[in-house]
Amino acid sequence: MKAVLKTKITVEDICEGFVYSELEGKGLYGLDGKLTIQPEYQRNYIYALEGGKKEMAVIDSVLKGYPIGLIYFNKVSEDNLEVLDGQQRITSLGRFIKDKFAIEDENGMQYFSGMAKDKRNKIMSTKLTIYECKGKESEIKKWFETINIAGVPLEKQELLNALNSGPFVTLAKEEFSNNQNAKIQKWRAYVKGIVERQAFLERALDWVSKGNIDDYMQRHRYKTNINELKNYFNKVIDWVSNVFTDVEKEMCGVEWGRLYEKYHKDSYNQAKVSAKVQKFLIDPYVKSNKNVFEFILGGSTDTQLLDVRVFDDAIKKKVYASQTKIGKAKKKSNCPHCAIGHVVNKSKIWKIKEMDADHVLAWSKGGANSAKNCQMLCKTHNRAKGNR
Ligand SMILES: [Zn+2]
Repeated sequence: MKAVLKTKITVEDICEGFVYSELEGKGLYGLDGKLTIQPEYQRNYIYALEGGKKEMAVIDSVLKGYPIGLIYFNKVSEDNLEVLDGQQRITSLGRFIKDKFAIEDENGMQYFSGMAKDKRNKIMSTKLTIYECKGKESEIKKWFETINIAGVPLEKQELLNALNSGPFVTLAKEEFSNNQNAKIQKWRAYVKGIVERQAFLERALDWVSKGNIDDYMQRHRYKTNINELKNYFNKVIDWVSNVFTDVEKEMCGVEWGRLYEKYHKDSYNQAKVSAKVQKFLIDPYVKSNKNVFEFILGGSTDTQLLDVRVFDDAIKKKVYASQTKIGKAKKKSNCPHCAIGHVVNKSKIWKIKEMDADHVLAWSKGGANSAKNCQMLCKTHNRAKGNR
C-alpha cells in the first residue's frame, strides 16, 4: 500500500459541493464531487447524536486552531477518493457550513452564515492533514483495522513507521525505540517522551530532516543503513553536552536540533556558560526557564526569550507618584527624559497610563526589579530606550 501526505487541502476545498442526505442521515460528497464521504463499509453519521455535542466540538476545535486529527482517503482513481477515516469530522464541517446546526459562542447560538467574517474565514481556510492511500482492497481493509485499534490512537510517528515500513524503519527503531539501548538513559536528559511510542525516533528524524520527517522517511525507506540519522543525532547530543556541562532538568524537550544548526559553529567557554546557566535558572524574574539555554547561546541579549517579570503595580505607582511630585515642584515633566529635552513635552505631566516602567540598569546587566532601579518614562522614550 502507498500513502501520500496532503497538507494543503482546506475545509473550504473539502466542503465544495458538500451534499448531506437527510433521508439516509449521512454526508455523501465533497471536494467538488471527487470525494465520496460515505463508502459502503462506513458507519452512519453519529456526531449529531446526543444533542450534537461532538459535531459542535469539531467546529470549536477548528475555531480555536486545534488539530482535528489525521484524515485518510482511499484513492480509487484519479478523480475518485473515498474517506477511509474522518467521515464524521468531514460531515460535521460540511453540515455546519450548510447551516444544519449552530454552535454557541460569546454571542449565543450561531449559524455559520450569521458568523463574523473573520470567523468564517478562519474555518474555511483551515488546512487538514490528510493521507491519500492507494492499494488493494484487502490491504486497505487491513490498514483500516490497524489505525482503528480500539482505545489507543496511534501516535503520528507510529503511523509514519507503518506507512514507510522497510529496512530503514526497522534499523531506526532498533536504535531509537529500544529501551534496551543503554544510550537512551543519556538521551533522556535532552529528549522528552515515551521511547516505545517512538518519541526518540521522532526527535532524531525531526533533527536530521529539519522538520520534514515524512519526506525524509519516504526517501530513505529502502536504505539498509541509518548512518546519517545516527551520526546527526549523536552530533547534536555531543554538542549540547559539550557546551552545557551540567545536566539540568529544564534541558529535556528543548529544540536542540534547531539550536545546533544555529549555534554549533560558535565557540563557548564551558565555565562561563555553566555559571550563567546556574544564575538564570534560579533567577526568580525569569519566567521561561526552558529558553535559558537559547538565551545564553545567543549571547545573553534577547531577554524576550526569558519572558522576564517586570515591575509590579505597587512599585510603578510609587515611582510615578514621586516623579510627578518632583516634576510639578520644578515645573518640569514627570518623564525624566522629556524634562531635559527641548521639545513641547518639556513640562508635560503624563498620566500613569501614558508611561511605562523602565530598568535604570538593564535587567540583563544585573539590574534589580526594585523601586530603586525603576523609573517611569513616557511611552515614546521608553520605546526609544529599547533593551530592558
Ligand atoms: Zn518622555
